[in-house]
Amino acid sequence: MDTNSFDSGKQDRRRFMADALRTGGVVAMASAGGFLVGRRSEGEPMVWQLDPDRCTACGNCATHCVLDVSAVKCYNCFDMCGFCDVCTGYFEMNYKSLDTAAENQACPTGAIVRKFVEEKSGQRFYEYTIDEPICIGCAKCVEGCALMNGSLYLQIDHQKCLNCNECAIATACPTEAFYRIPQSQSEILKERAAAVYQARGSQTKRVIERDAEQTGTEIDQVKEAEANELLARAERQRVWRASQQKGSDSQEPSFQ
Ligand code: SF4
Ligand code: SF4
Ligand code: SF4
Repeated sequence: MDTNSFDSGKQDRRRFMADALRTGGVVAMASAGGFLVGRRSEGEPMVWQLDPDRCTACGNCATHCVLDVSAVKCYNCFDMCGFCDVCTGYFEMNYKSLDTAAENQACPTGAIVRKFVEEKSGQRFYEYTIDEPICIGCAKCVEGCALMNGSLYLQIDHQKCLNCNECAIATACPTEAFYRIPQSQSEILKERAAAVYQARGSQTKRVIERDAEQTGTEIDQVKEAEANELLARAERQRVWRASQQKGSDSQEPSFQ
């Protein structure tokens, strides 16, 4: 995923060990009860994931996971992000000043990192990344960001998720946003993100083909691979949406 850290394994070792110990207890219980699944007897393994277009940021993702710290984390889709100075996902609605003091931040754990990027035409732009190990999946930032670009969204981190037979959050989710999807897909993009990836991938392909033709050089393999990856992700999303529409009585989220 192009978003920060979905695929990254850069975890602080001490946090990782603490998580592993906590998780170990739950895994042991789960295995004893025989309620963990991760693999079908035939076909591709399926994993839980949530559809960010159906999420209404109710907060249950933080409180209903069987893990001490939820396997649901926030991600930022930078292709949708406005790099806003006054980020409605980062700042508390009643912030006192636009600085990084804890009282001004919406995030209860301070998991969002705000970094100055540049100033253009008198406007300042900031990058917002998630310190994933301390994100508890509470969705406060998701709710705030929905007022602007909606680039912050929740997904299950499969490196943390136990892939319970019955996901406790799925049961508690008021909008039925949880689905089992093939392990190889692993994420569910927002529809808008998929559209952005589709457009960017197509445009990149057109530009590198034009440049190669005009300059008589080889096609840039790296850029072509990036364009193909974006197109592939958009296509996986399209196929998944189509499969959902077949048998669903769509329940629309209350915002976005
Ligand atoms: S339980 Fe459902 S609606 Fe609530 S935060 Fe999680 S995905 Fe969103
Ligand atoms: S506000 Fe909640 S969901 Fe967003 S980064 Fe902080 S802990 Fe994670
Ligand atoms: S399946 Fe659901 S309840 Fe179980 S660890 Fe994963 S997110 Fe948490």
